[in-house]
Amino acid sequence: MNENLSADRPSFVTHLECSMTGERYEADKLHGLSKVGRPLLVRYDLDAISKAVSRDEIAARPTDLWRWRELLPVRHTRDIVSLGEIETPLVPIPASGGANVLVKDEGRLPTGSFKARGLVMAVSMAKELGVTKIAMPTNGNAGAALAAYASRCGIETIVLCPEDTPEINVREIAVQGARVWRVNGLIDDCGAIVGKGAAEGRWFDFSTLKEPYRIEGKKTMGLELAAQFGWDLPDAIFYPTGGGTGLIGMWKAFDELEKLGWIGSKRPRMYAVQASGCAPIVKAFDDGVEHAERWENSHTVAAGIRVPKAVGDFLILRAVRESGGKAIAVDDDAILKAVDDTARQDGLLLCPEGGATLAAYRAALADGLVRESETAVLFNCATGLKYPMPEATNWLDRHQPVDFDSL
Ligand SMILES: *Cc1c(COP(=O)(O)O)cnc(C)c1O
Repeated sequence: MNENLSADRPSFVTHLECSMTGERYEADKLHGLSKVGRPLLVRYDLDAISKAVSRDEIAARPTDLWRWRELLPVRHTRDIVSLGEIETPLVPIPASGGANVLVKDEGRLPTGSFKARGLVMAVSMAKELGVTKIAMPTNGNAGAALAAYASRCGIETIVLCPEDTPEINVREIAVQGARVWRVNGLIDDCGAIVGKGAAEGRWFDFSTLKEPYRIEGKKTMGLELAAQFGWDLPDAIFYPTGGGTGLIGMWKAFDELEKLGWIGSKRPRMYAVQASGCAPIVKAFDDGVEHAERWENSHTVAAGIRVPKAVGDFLILRAVRESGGKAIAVDDDAILKAVDDTARQDGLLLCPEGGATLAAYRAALADGLVRESETAVLFNCATGLKYPMPEATNWLDRHQPVDFDSL
């Protein structure tokens, strides 16, 4: 038994706050978006946390997501619906990336993607707050993580995905107990249906950032990086950005860690990576505006970042700008080449979205935005095994003489 989940550790949530207006919302109540339709952020009594626990105590605990309990929203251990959320390793890719390039390999999490971080938190909170039915639009991995955690605690789920969602995602969602539907539209079209049902009181809306706790789960990527780098953050982070939960979450984590006195004021430059076939955040960054317009006719091999419109757009843009980073678009050819290079040269199979971060790193290096001597972290958000791979067609007839030289 994991001692992080047997010991009773308190949560220090004080309230929630509108990310746009700062308006306060009560903790321990079910919330969606704020009154102005923007994400809610969870706030903690950081003074009390710094008195209750030290960073060294946390560092001495088993290295999973639940070592950060004091900085997470779940109050009761009994409500934690865990499938074993390990700390993910930082894997060097010296040949395809460079001497100081590390891949945070999130493909090793339950359900094979970092959506597990967000959904384990959101589902545990839904359980704690008495939710019995959830619906969600998804490009695949979020739906799979929702299905797994919700089935585990008996919450009913309805999942809607674009009709061209990878077959494996649709099937994994179904086999893990959700009612999954393909829809002839994109993720925001699916989201509109989910929103309508929620307005009618049919279910709770679990769309990205439309409930407050997924950010808290994704925040653990930032907490983990701080601990893994000895409380001194890397120089640059490349994050494949769809809804942006992880980027927003990490930025929040760094802020909380500094207020706790566990890290200094140094921040990584945050690079939001998108595909050139769906790059609303890149366009908004380049235009110098605070909100992104919907990206029409979105297309890319990296389905996980095919999000034409993100409700947290201004939070992504704010974090990227404050950090001194940039939003970068990469095309599908560069993405597929990056996946291929990393697999062939470093033996690490990335998902296309992870490949996008290496493609963006290469572009940033060429443009002088990062130096080879700087430490860069690339996020591989899902296991490469979920995605189509190039054909391998060699075939050997064992009844014929074997031409050993040709093997
Ligand atoms: C969800 C997802 C993303 C985007 O993550 P956000 O935090 O929502 O921006 C990237 N890659 C994969 C594989 C995903 O499943």
